Amino acid sequence: MQFMNKMTLKRNIAVLGSTGSIGRQTLDIIAEYPDLFNAWLLVARSSADLLIAQARLCRPHMVIIADEQYYDYVRDALEDTDIIVATGSAAIAQAVTAPEIDTVVTAMVGYSGLESTIAAIGAGKRIALANKETLVVAGELIDRLLKDSESVLYPVDSEHGAFYQCLVGERHEDIDKLWLTASGGPFRTLPKEQLETVTAADALKHPNWSMGAKITIDSATMMNKGFEMIEARWLFGVMPDDIEIMVHPQSIIHSMVAFKDGSVKAQLGLPDMHLPIRYALGLPDRRLASNSRKMTLEDMATLTFERPDFDKFPLLGMAYAAARTGGTAPCVMNAANEIAVAAFLQDKIKFTDIYKIIENTMEKAPHIKHPTYEDYVASNANARAIAERLAKH
Ligand code: MG
Repeated sequence: MQFMNKMTLKRNIAVLGSTGSIGRQTLDIIAEYPDLFNAWLLVARSSADLLIAQARLCRPHMVIIADEQYYDYVRDALEDTDIIVATGSAAIAQAVTAPEIDTVVTAMVGYSGLESTIAAIGAGKRIALANKETLVVAGELIDRLLKDSESVLYPVDSEHGAFYQCLVGERHEDIDKLWLTASGGPFRTLPKEQLETVTAADALKHPNWSMGAKITIDSATMMNKGFEMIEARWLFGVMPDDIEIMVHPQSIIHSMVAFKDGSVKAQLGLPDMHLPIRYALGLPDRRLASNSRKMTLEDMATLTFERPDFDKFPLLGMAYAAARTGGTAPCVMNAANEIAVAAFLQDKIKFTDIYKIIENTMEKAPHIKHPTYEDYVASNANARAIAERLAKH
């Protein structure tokens, strides 16, 4: 009887980053369960045409195009509807607090997700967190804000969805460590020397997951796994050194938890982001039944594991160092990474320059041990400026 459906009212969902990979898949799930969910607010950075098409299809209460130069275009295109159109980051932070909204899916890319996530916590919303950079940049602050709020964070990242599922019914004190799985990315088997000459096109060919450009490059450098370690550290209240990264190229086990009695729980599933999104949106009431392809014995016939190569992927070690240092260190690392990845995607720098830029930025940027929100904002801006200069040389 404890599995009785408590989800009797339709949930209004705000999708921040609706035109990105996670945003589009979230709209698939909302459309899959029309009796349970309604897209109430859609937010996009600059993909105006896709936002207009989504608005015509989902009929949300409101859409926001973050980049102001597209505002007139979107407003005019939706003039014949009763959909409210707004623009700018202040409008986003304001809109997520609307009392009609039940759940905020934060799927914006990078640092830009921070302000609206803080606003959603302030308004006590359920948050399906897809923007891992929020916890990387300001995990300490978010953790503090959550303690004073009714807001709950549900992870959308597949690894963190796995940890969450492994931890249902367990006591925190019984955790020995978290095993964070990584596919290893497109360069897992490439000799280290050849990383000097790989192109953005090479790095964008991820073996298992279909994702946006920024996170795909983060997977190729393994920065993504460093970010996920920091994300897990805050979501599950463990220390960085309680999290061990393991390379599992098939991406069938999405992560595992080892307990103090020697038992290990793993969560398995096909590498399809619809699964963790569906799980997060069903929380805390139930699993949402689906007609999507189910896993077969063949899918899990060969599961292999290896240790990550910290020498070939130095951003892994840098992420652990930043997490142990705390304060603004992870914020600086994230800012430098955003600039370096953008420069690499534009073929302005080499793949291996990404970590040189991050390392140099972290050396040059001042460190604040107990940052306020304003400190994070200033630290992010300062680190971006340093990284921009480094990327030009
Ligand atoms: Mg992930």
